[in-house]
Amino acid sequence: AQIKEVQFVRSSNRPKDCPKDGRPEFAILGRSNVGKSSLINALVKKKEIALTSKKPGKTQLINHFLVNKSWYIVDLPGYGFAKASESARMDWSSFTKGYFLNRETLVAVLLLIDASVPQQKIDLDCANWLGRNDIPITFVFTKCDKMKGGKGTRPDENIRSFQELIRQNYKQQPPWIMTSSVTGLGRDELLLHMSQLRNF
Ligand code: GDP
Repeated sequence: AQIKEVQFVRSSNRPKDCPKDGRPEFAILGRSNVGKSSLINALVKKKEIALTSKKPGKTQLINHFLVNKSWYIVDLPGYGFAKASESARMDWSSFTKGYFLNRETLVAVLLLIDASVPQQKIDLDCANWLGRNDIPITFVFTKCDKMKGGKGTRPDENIRSFQELIRQNYKQQPPWIMTSSVTGLGRDELLLHMSQLRNF
């Protein structure tokens, strides 16, 4: 399940410009600042690989990274960027929704949720939308090393209340993994999980 090699392949502006080689892919999605670049770096163990744009809402690119010459990690623009205008946020959602609904090689969305803060409406909206559209999802809770987070809440409590709030939009509870890019928690579990979903 380990990552031996990662190559940046392409940035696509539209879903139809994405690679057409049929290889399976995992889309990584989350609010700006959720810890997405840190997680990708931790997975790949290379500092320079995550080329995530720091200005979501401006640069809308779907970034494909080919792993071990056999499957893709897809870095999607972060959502909920505080500085993005209302229209930029709308663009984000139609853009990304188009990708989710039309990408046949998508194995699962890894939705990153910051476990160190209480649940955020935008994360719940995104999780509920994916659930209602039957898009396979794994919740990846980030920053689980933080014992006390925003408003004095704890990661395990934040995770439990998040799961409770999205439950009605899912036929089955989606898989979920606790991670920390600081301690390495969940890294191997996540890699194994992805290899099981791919079947190789
Ligand atoms: P991105 O905007 O989603 O790509 O988020 P970054 O990876 O740039 O991380 C945002 C901030 O959260 C940075 O200050 C990171 O150092 C911090 N961060 C990311 N992952 C973790 C984590 O697992 N634990 C802790 N304590 N901080 C983290």
